[in-house]
Amino acid sequence: MGTPFRITSGIRSYSESDQLYHDHIYNGGPQAVPGGYSFHNFDESFGGCAYDFTLWDETRNAPLWDSVPGGPNYVTVAKLGEVGGMYAGFRFGDEPHLEYHAPWTAGLSEGQITAELRRRHDQGIDPVA
Ligand SMILES: [Zn+2]
Repeated sequence: MGTPFRITSGIRSYSESDQLYHDHIYNGGPQAVPGGYSFHNFDESFGGCAYDFTLWDETRNAPLWDSVPGGPNYVTVAKLGEVGGMYAGFRFGDEPHLEYHAPWTAGLSEGQITAELRRRHDQGIDPVA
């Protein structure tokens, strides 16, 4: 597809998510949720259950936050991620986001999944197995 992309974020601690959530609420920062409610908070051994990416403009050596009309875009990249087994954030309004839904998550809501991930995190249980 020709447009390179880069991973910009993977695993985050609860406190890092809390800071992003604070920035979202009080400083107009990007969409964010509190610690323990993000797929970015889980599974350090896996490198994070979620990844954020950006399309990359090699000419400017800078992120390309707006999709190129008629060209590759965030949804295209996210759909490639889904081919690889990830769940795409554009399905809930977060285009540059991909997350992994382990087999045990089948049929559960996002809220039910993050609740189970918090329980597993708190008890030291592998979030993917
Ligand atoms: Zn994300």
